Amino acid sequence: MRIVIVGGGQAAASMAARLRARGHEGPLTVIGNEPAAPYQRPPLSKAYLLGQMGLDRLTLRAPEWWRDQGIALHLSETALSIDAHGRVLTTDRGSYPYDALALTTGAAPRRLPAAMGGDLPGTYVIRSLADVDALAPQMREGRRLVVIGGGYIGLEAAAVARKLGLEVTLIEAAPRILGRVAAAETSDMIRALHRAHGVTILEGTGISRITGEERATGVAMIDGRQIDADLVIMGIGVLPETGLAGTAGLDLDNGIATDQHGRTSDPSVWAAGDCASTPWQGGRLRLESVGGAIDMAECVADNMMGLVRDYAPKAWFWSDQFDAKLQIAGLNAGHDQVVRRAGQGDHVASVWYYRQGALIAVDALNDARAYMIGKRLIEGGISPDPAVIPTVPDLKALLA
Ligand code: NAP
Repeated sequence: MRIVIVGGGQAAASMAARLRARGHEGPLTVIGNEPAAPYQRPPLSKAYLLGQMGLDRLTLRAPEWWRDQGIALHLSETALSIDAHGRVLTTDRGSYPYDALALTTGAAPRRLPAAMGGDLPGTYVIRSLADVDALAPQMREGRRLVVIGGGYIGLEAAAVARKLGLEVTLIEAAPRILGRVAAAETSDMIRALHRAHGVTILEGTGISRITGEERATGVAMIDGRQIDADLVIMGIGVLPETGLAGTAGLDLDNGIATDQHGRTSDPSVWAAGDCASTPWQGGRLRLESVGGAIDMAECVADNMMGLVRDYAPKAWFWSDQFDAKLQIAGLNAGHDQVVRRAGQGDHVASVWYYRQGALIAVDALNDARAYMIGKRLIEGGISPDPAVIPTVPDLKALLA
């Protein structure tokens, strides 16, 4: 069986490793359009941007590993089209006949349109190694940074910038930061953390454009204010990379639509990671998380090898901001009740999400115990009475 994987990120690396581990001995090719071999993305907006982690530690597998595993790793190569009938992938360098093709094409960061200054020099996004290699040298003490977008990318970048001594203003158009991914209680904890470290956070107020002629000089707010800046980071979300799948006629639905096994509408083509959406609770879910990419890629590899395994999305996220660690277990979609448990000390607390009486997710800030116990409860299908969460002296008692 000839297997070709398009995309050179975490999902591709995990899938390739799992295929070999499961005994696939046939030809295996990974085609990525970045120049770097598959690397971890999460540190890009944290330790790598801060200069505390080198490329050697970012890289997922050393060159020898790819060689020893007999995996042909093609870098700086762009997949152009899929001949679904003839089962051939064409790139800018050649053609690859396949028996099974996997799309792990990931997602691309959104930018503001050029008409709003989104392409001016001095504006940055954070997704790839190249993005961060361009940004990091600009993050110098005393400079003024505006971050557009209060998701994880924007908040992590703001925290790194403060640590490096920049003046930081973060602007979120929605009523609160982290509105897409977390409850108001979690937004409150993270806002307090950032304000304690001197980040100016403006919420519920959009920008009309990034200002500047030759390069970015700041942002003009819709309410008429001008905020001057030396550099601007856009952390305004990502879009799944579906171009190749779309032109091949594969079904798309908030990403490349797969069945519960990770198979697309073409039985020879599979998808995994940020680019793929899967059936979930009567609808579809597209996870944007490294944990999700690994889980789904391994599930697809198993299914390619004939194991017939359903992919069960389960979330585990984390975010490092300043010296705080936010850990998230479970998926909070559809929650109808939230309870907060205060921990001991500053910026220590957890937020517990329930849906119809069932515990579905926990956000824990600097509270590893709440995270661990919440995760075990969710995995075990145990739902403590929400009323006891804030007051139970020892959370461990909930496991009994
Ligand atoms: P995100 O989670 O979609 O957050 C983007 C934020 O920017 C949203 O709150 C969005 O608000 C806001 N926004 C959009 N347009 C705006 C505008 N014109 N002005 C001001 N605010 C605007 O995406 P992200 O933070 O860019 O992260 C990209 C991806 O990387 C996500 O999948 C994220 O989960 C992932 N990531 C994860 C981690 C982690 O797990 N630690 C760390 C970094 C990145 P609306 O929702 O109202 O549009």
